[in-house]
Amino acid sequence: MTYDLVVIGTGPGGYVCAIRAAQLGMKVAVVEKRATHGGTCLNVGCIPSKAMLHTSELFEEAAHSFAGFGIKVAKPKLDLPAMMKHKQETIDGNVGGIEFLFKKNKITAFHGTGRILSAGKVEVAHEDGSTEIVETRNIVIATGSDVARLPGIEIDEEQVVSSTGALALDKVPGKMIVVGAGVIGLELGSVWRRLGAEVTVVEFLDRILPGMDGDVAKNFQRMLKKQGMKFMLSSKLDGIDKKGKKLVATIEPAAGEAAAETIEADVILVAIGRRPYTEGLGLDDVGVALDDKGRVKTDGHFKTSVDGIYAIGDVIAGPMLAHKAEDEGIALAEQLSGQAGHVNYEVIPAVVYTMPEVASVGKTEEELKEAGTAYSVGKFPFSANGRAKAMAQTEGFVKVLADQKTDRVLGVHIVGAGAGEMIHEAAVLMEFGGSAEDLGRTCHAHPTMSEAVKEAALAVDNRPIHM
Ligand code: FAD
Repeated sequence: MTYDLVVIGTGPGGYVCAIRAAQLGMKVAVVEKRATHGGTCLNVGCIPSKAMLHTSELFEEAAHSFAGFGIKVAKPKLDLPAMMKHKQETIDGNVGGIEFLFKKNKITAFHGTGRILSAGKVEVAHEDGSTEIVETRNIVIATGSDVARLPGIEIDEEQVVSSTGALALDKVPGKMIVVGAGVIGLELGSVWRRLGAEVTVVEFLDRILPGMDGDVAKNFQRMLKKQGMKFMLSSKLDGIDKKGKKLVATIEPAAGEAAAETIEADVILVAIGRRPYTEGLGLDDVGVALDDKGRVKTDGHFKTSVDGIYAIGDVIAGPMLAHKAEDEGIALAEQLSGQAGHVNYEVIPAVVYTMPEVASVGKTEEELKEAGTAYSVGKFPFSANGRAKAMAQTEGFVKVLADQKTDRVLGVHIVGAGAGEMIHEAAVLMEFGGSAEDLGRTCHAHPTMSEAVKEAALAVDNRPIHM
């Protein structure tokens, strides 16, 4: 049997591409080496981390916030196995959903490791050692990414863990070092801090959340510090000594001039980023080119250097985000069926799911300055928002960046409870090329946190009402 499309990898990029292609009438197969579909995101990424973030947030609220609202409860006790059970049930529900959607859309799923033999031919190696060859008109590489490692630091997933191990610890570490102040490190560090760990974040750069708006990152770091997270910026992990059940980390200044210091920890989380995963795909033999960062090179329409072979998601350039991978999957499926699929890379929201959340879409102030774009800033704090006061969630602000000449919104950055939901009105506005005036004149329900978005838009023209 010849398929129209074979997708290798069923993460958010691959499974969404397969479903959209099937909706458009293609005969589709997927190849997945993991026991369950859903990739990093559903199995060891977005979904389990959000389950843990939610439950740890409830735990902290019950311990520290309830009393202030007049709710008296005994000191909450942690039942970590039950918390992990909830996490696992959340994963199971989600990956089961993909299985159902594949059946519903008549997508054939091959379990095994895919290797491209040539354009039109994918070999599937099954766990029992047997292989089969699947023929297809088009191949999509959607093999995602893997944890980036530090040279000389061995990850055992028990004491020295990657995000995968950090999602499955069997007890709360007394002391935890998080190496890397990116999204994953800060999210998982927050989880374990809320559950009782003393968390120190070690970051090579002189700031947290590289790539996000600098002002937002600075303010957010202050909030995390207030919550008890410690930071060692401009520092690097040089080595780890194991002393029985304890770890001793040697931390050096990033510049490497001053003396190193040692810190004890029970668990060290290495969260320095992710790298594109192309191992075992046979790309060299087929002639699929990679870029200098090991990502599959594409032509802007997801085509690789070989006709009939395409790539999407974390394995190609761009932000390593599930929704970016999904949108690329949809765009590619539509292109392959003769439609004009498209991804607007200027409007891809990014969210840090901590408490408060950080959400951002479009340009940062640093990017606008570098491009020489004249812009206006409108800022509004949640401390002046009625709903935020009612919920005692007054930390943070909304910042709208608009083109000084045209008033077109170029970027929106939010730190605050629910920022990850609020950011989407900015994304929709920006998709339609809207202005700060459009946003400021859009009626927002009262009382909502989202009114701060409207007020920040009005602040671009110096006319917020409640400040
Ligand atoms: P993946 O999800 O990595 O899927 C690739 C799949 O390909 C895997 O299932 C793999 O087994 C399979 N595969 C690889 N090689 C082969 C082969 N040769 N044959 C067969 N199968 C193969 N992103 C967000 O947007 N929001 C979040 O909140 C978020 N949280 C995260 C939290 C953590 C802890 C981590 C680690 C990541 C998080 N991410 C988040 C990132 C997100 O998970 C990725 O951007 C997303 O999963 C990328 O999707 P993908 O389809 O490109 O690849």
